Amino acid sequence: MSARDRDWMRRLRRGLRAWYAGHARDLPWRRGRDPYAVWISEIMLQQTTVAAVVPYFQRFLARFPTVFELAAANEDDVLKLWEGLGYYSRARNLHRAARVVVAEHGGRFPEEVAELRRLPGIGRYTAGAIVSFAFDRPAPIVEANTLRVYCRLIGFAGDPKSADGQRVLWKFAEEVLPRREPGRVNHALMELGATLCAPAAPDCPACPVNSYCRAFANGTQNEIPRLAARPEVTRLVEAAIAVRKNGHVLLRRRGPGEWWTGLWDFPRFPAASVGRIADPSSRSQPAIEAARELERRFAEETGIQVALGEPLGEFSHSVTRYRIRLLCYAAEHRGGRLRRGAEWSWVRCRDLSELPLSKPGRRMAEMVRAQVRGQ
Ligand code: SF4
Repeated sequence: MSARDRDWMRRLRRGLRAWYAGHARDLPWRRGRDPYAVWISEIMLQQTTVAAVVPYFQRFLARFPTVFELAAANEDDVLKLWEGLGYYSRARNLHRAARVVVAEHGGRFPEEVAELRRLPGIGRYTAGAIVSFAFDRPAPIVEANTLRVYCRLIGFAGDPKSADGQRVLWKFAEEVLPRREPGRVNHALMELGATLCAPAAPDCPACPVNSYCRAFANGTQNEIPRLAARPEVTRLVEAAIAVRKNGHVLLRRRGPGEWWTGLWDFPRFPAASVGRIADPSSRSQPAIEAARELERRFAEETGIQVALGEPLGEFSHSVTRYRIRLLCYAAEHRGGRLRRGAEWSWVRCRDLSELPLSKPGRRMAEMVRAQVRGQ
């Protein structure tokens, strides 16, 4: 690095530190340096906003205040506390990693990036965040906010997700860190990205480091970083059936490789051939045919026969690049044996609130409970 670049870097850090001292938001995970709390918050914050995470973080820490309670928990309890946050592999990995920290490290978090990265679900960014925020040791971080800030500060107009882009950004992330208080500089960079250096219309006039920002100097802050094309949305229609038997409803645990792995859900299956929700008790021939088709498909999927009843309703939800219209029905159990190879459970309607359900499963559970209350 040239003397000029070193001087630029020094001024940049000074500007960041001074600004952060007066502008840092008061967030629950920033009130101490407990590596466990830092770790939980960083995992929760992946793909999720700060506002959404705060109540989850508080509930999680109240229930599992240390890594020992988390390691001793059962997976359903962990998933239940995660319900609604999405990306459930994060919760399952958190649970597995807690067990490794207790079993192999006596409950103490490793202080080295390389060792942390051996734990399930901890990548380069999360390891760097734990090391720099909890132990205040220099460890580079690149996540969505800092990636954007770095690209703009150094005027990087290439693809930040390419191998070359990643190399440039991780190198900058390493070089920007001082030996003294590196955690504070990392926090300041993240905070800048989360507040002033927003993806659209960054507030450059208010930015504490605008004199050192190459994108601002070139007027390219709105074009950098280069955004990847959004994947095309695929539309699907699925049906979900709440089968009732003696005050219980049938649920299936989502298996490995499926969306919402480990969570419970009503059995559901593709229903593009049915397309629209219809009341099978009406006299309309298309509605009766649609109901028979769903009953037949359901028997193929689960091994049991049902008689479709009143429709509960329909709603749309998104998962990754899919937009799914979900047709929800209630049905009465008529016999047959549940297929092996899946985990099934007959759950009392009033106990539905105690199980970790997928987000659409939770919404449908509310429909089921409303129907039961109305009967
Ligand atoms: Fe971001 Fe603008 Fe500050 Fe540059 S000057 S870091 S683009 S907010």
